[in-house]
Amino acid sequence: MNAPNTAGWRPEMGDAHIASEETFTGNRALMLEERLIFEIGDTSTTGVDIDPAPAAASRLGSLARADAIGLPGLSEPETVRHYTRLSRQNYGIDLGFFPLGSCTMKHNPRLNEAVARMKGFKDVHPLQPRETVQGALAVIDELAHWLVTLTGMDSVAMSPKAGAHGELCGILAIKAALEARGEDRKVILVPESAHGTNPATAAFAGFSVENIPATEAGRVDLAALKARLGPDVAGVMITNPNTCGLFEPDLKAISDAVHAAGGYVYCDGANFNAIVGKVRPGDLGVDAMHINLHKTFSTPHGGGGPGSGPVVLSAALSPFAPLPYVKREADGSLRLVEEETAGEDQPDSFGRMVAFHGQMGMFTRALAYILSHGADGLKQVAEDAVLNANYVLRSLEGVLDAPFGHSGPCMHEALFTDDGFAEGFSTLDVAKGLIDEGFHPMTVYFPLVVHGAMLVEPTETESKAALDQFIGALRSVAMRAKQGDPALKSAPHFAPRRRLDETLAARKPVLAWKGDKGE
Ligand SMILES: *Cc1c(COP(=O)(O)O)cnc(C)c1O
Repeated sequence: MNAPNTAGWRPEMGDAHIASEETFTGNRALMLEERLIFEIGDTSTTGVDIDPAPAAASRLGSLARADAIGLPGLSEPETVRHYTRLSRQNYGIDLGFFPLGSCTMKHNPRLNEAVARMKGFKDVHPLQPRETVQGALAVIDELAHWLVTLTGMDSVAMSPKAGAHGELCGILAIKAALEARGEDRKVILVPESAHGTNPATAAFAGFSVENIPATEAGRVDLAALKARLGPDVAGVMITNPNTCGLFEPDLKAISDAVHAAGGYVYCDGANFNAIVGKVRPGDLGVDAMHINLHKTFSTPHGGGGPGSGPVVLSAALSPFAPLPYVKREADGSLRLVEEETAGEDQPDSFGRMVAFHGQMGMFTRALAYILSHGADGLKQVAEDAVLNANYVLRSLEGVLDAPFGHSGPCMHEALFTDDGFAEGFSTLDVAKGLIDEGFHPMTVYFPLVVHGAMLVEPTETESKAALDQFIGALRSVAMRAKQGDPALKSAPHFAPRRRLDETLAARKPVLAWKGDKGE
């Protein structure tokens, strides 16, 4: 780790500090080291120049502050520089290629941003009277319409605020449906390759989780799944395309078998980008699926914005959908139904997931995206995302091991393993080496079903030139791992921070400023 070199350079040090890659300031070329605002600022100074307030008797009594408030004082330029420097340390999709598999880090079109910033949308408040927010309700209603149309489902719950939240919504709907049938089914089946949120969701909702094995070809083992079905199985959670970047061609057969055994099918729709406009999950027998608006429908995420995870539901689960939802009244006006009403408004709803209606800013962006692409454009999104991933997969043939490369093309992401690396070299080394090349690493060590996984999701928004540059960098770093270049073991060399102790940082995070003496 490079703490600022406060000792400074002394003549007897010669050029030792250059050899050790340390600088006096801790800066690296124009990558500026930035200390905490408490370390830069001095509590005795202030950036404003106003006369002291006239003495007035305190009316706070015993609540009056006894000690100094302790805020760092900085001038305006110091403050602006502090936050600008911090903002430069945030890697984002607007800065460069972000091949994080399973995350669909695609470009966020500026058209969406312009729409989301329109005054009537940007300033809307969830407690405004209904007559004043008819336009906002119409946006929710129209987006709901297109999500239901694109997925071939019966209804959609708009309020969940992320993919994992949507999973919980879908599983709670399944639980409510089972309760309404008077059945106590306790088991949810989850494939080995599932995202960690799937088993976590099922367990959080009170189910026990059992794994279904994968076939040699990286798909759900249909025979093993069928063999496990029975009166104790509430349902399955399946990702399609799955987290190995492969389509599950047996999903319809899986759904039929699960339904015949009295269970429900939850589909993790995080990878919908690969099939949007091409495949309707409703046609595959899915009962519930979340859609990550922040993945498929291009709303900013990963430090750039909040998520949004609407859940499309089959006719069997729709009666149990959460509140609130938008309803069109007889007079044509729109209403947000906030409470279940026997015989009328969603009487069997399992309840409410959020205080209000969900992520309004994401709804406007997603609707702008859908309408600006149109049916043909959305179809092309899926086709280009798959084409780009296959270009990456084939371009690295013979360089990186592709565990399922033999079973044909991939969907929207290319999966590689560490097979063939020199003794002692790992996927982590390749990821760190990519940082030196100026790339955010791909997803590593996920999915768990292959050794040393590297999951690359280029998305459709990257040009061939951008892909070629990444492929060249990955090829170079992979060759170093295969040939055992010792310098790769200590990469990154050019980043302001080298290899951090990520385990310690996660287990013992230091989150509060404890004073400059560290007490
Ligand atoms: C991203 C993702 C999720 C979770 O979505 P969040 O919006 O991050 O909660 C679930 N499953 C898969 C396969 C994903 O890629």
